[in-house]
Amino acid sequence: MPNTQDHSGPEVIIIGAGIVGLCTAYQLLETGKRVTIVDPSQPGAECSSGNAGSLASGAVAPLAMPGVLKQAPGMLLDPTGPLYVPLSYLLHVAPWMARFVAASSPARVAEIALALHALIGDAVQLHKAMATQVGCRELIADSGQLHLYPDQSSLEKDNAGWALKQQHGLNAQRIGRADIHALEPAVSDHYQVGYHLPDQPWVKEPQLYASSIAEYLKGRGVQFVRDRVRGLSKDSRGWSLQGQFDEYCTAQVVLAAGAWSAQLLRPLGVKVPLETQRGYHLRFAKSEVALERIVVLADRKVFITSMQSGLRVAGTVEFGGLERPPSHPRAALLADHAKAGLPDLDVSNPVEWMGHRPCLPDSLPVIGEVPQQPGLWCAFGHGHLGLTGSAGTGRLLAQAMSGSALAQKAITPFSINRF
Ligand SMILES: Cc1cc2nc3c(=O)[nH]c(=O)nc-3n(C[C@H](O)[C@H](O)[C@H](O)COP(=O)(O)OP(=O)(O)OC[C@H]3O[C@@H](n4cnc5c(N)ncnc54)[C@H](O)[C@@H]3O)c2cc1C
Repeated sequence: MPNTQDHSGPEVIIIGAGIVGLCTAYQLLETGKRVTIVDPSQPGAECSSGNAGSLASGAVAPLAMPGVLKQAPGMLLDPTGPLYVPLSYLLHVAPWMARFVAASSPARVAEIALALHALIGDAVQLHKAMATQVGCRELIADSGQLHLYPDQSSLEKDNAGWALKQQHGLNAQRIGRADIHALEPAVSDHYQVGYHLPDQPWVKEPQLYASSIAEYLKGRGVQFVRDRVRGLSKDSRGWSLQGQFDEYCTAQVVLAAGAWSAQLLRPLGVKVPLETQRGYHLRFAKSEVALERIVVLADRKVFITSMQSGLRVAGTVEFGGLERPPSHPRAALLADHAKAGLPDLDVSNPVEWMGHRPCLPDSLPVIGEVPQQPGLWCAFGHGHLGLTGSAGTGRLLAQAMSGSALAQKAITPFSINRF
């Protein structure tokens, strides 16, 4: 065990064994680093287990697009809408919302899309290369995705986002009702138009994907320690991590604790506007409806994926912090959405899940070293794209930690300094 008071411990300790921490460990190993990962849970057990599985390398449009100020207020207070803030949380989240709106100017959106493209543009190749190396390539499905709308006018509301994605190279083919029926016969006639994204693959079981990477890392000597880090401190010899069970010492730390990351920075005087956007899924383990590809009911912001463990209907954004229990009515709404897309789906007896998307207001993660805290590196805040962005994040961080000047430059848009 690396839980030693001796500062010659592992070269790098990663806090968090979500998909971001795991991909970072994978890339650090490639650069020859000795790595330990500390997490109280199984690898990939939190947000990284319940996502929709989309490897969305073309999803460079941020959540706050120009015009968001007009749409958001109505959406936010509608408990059945895709975005919801309980009234009691509104004051708390107001400063985050102000930053969210500020990030929606056309100039800032263009910068964000450019930065996201640099981070995720080759995510598909990176994930496939890693999966091949790890021995779980069969978990990535190449059948593409459909993003669907009931009619032309609802599709047009997303025109700016699609145009931005296409500008950055996304292969998105316009389709009509006959194409939708030919590609996915189970989809309701309600959905008349959309886009076919043949080059955007998906992961068939995100939790299994994470645990496969973890098993590979263990085989390569990465140590996994089950502990919760309660605090971090630095002295002349390096970093000490105070865990619930022990203390861990190391030269360098990577903070990849997803939505919980800001809590560990606060005592060091480092503030970052990280909010959880609580997302839900319903799993229909015995569904007789199966889909060949991911189907996104884009007007409802709901993803439907035929996972190995059943049909998963994922979506919704709910603010409300890390401590509130999951909202059953919020999860149950997903059954209505699923039924609107897949009329033959038996929506009885779903398994409900809620997870914490780690979200910064400008839809960019924080990646890089914390100023005035040498040896403390961040890799968190990937929001709706953490599965996709994990591989590129690991690569960028590993290069920057090895002192690459190019990587130091590439990391600038993700600096914690931007807040
Ligand atoms: C409904 C839904 C659908 C989504 N769909 C997609 C999708 O299709 N494609 C996509 O790319 N992304 C998707 N996402 C987003 C994606 O799942 C997340 O961005 C990603 O999982 C975040 O990974 P992470 O490693 O940062 O965080 P997590 O997976 O949450 O991992 C953080 C880890 O840190 C650990 N930790 C926390 N505190 C401590 C501590 N004090 N000490 C030690 N360890 C600690 C936790 O136990 C956890 O294991 C979706 C999210 C949701 C909710």
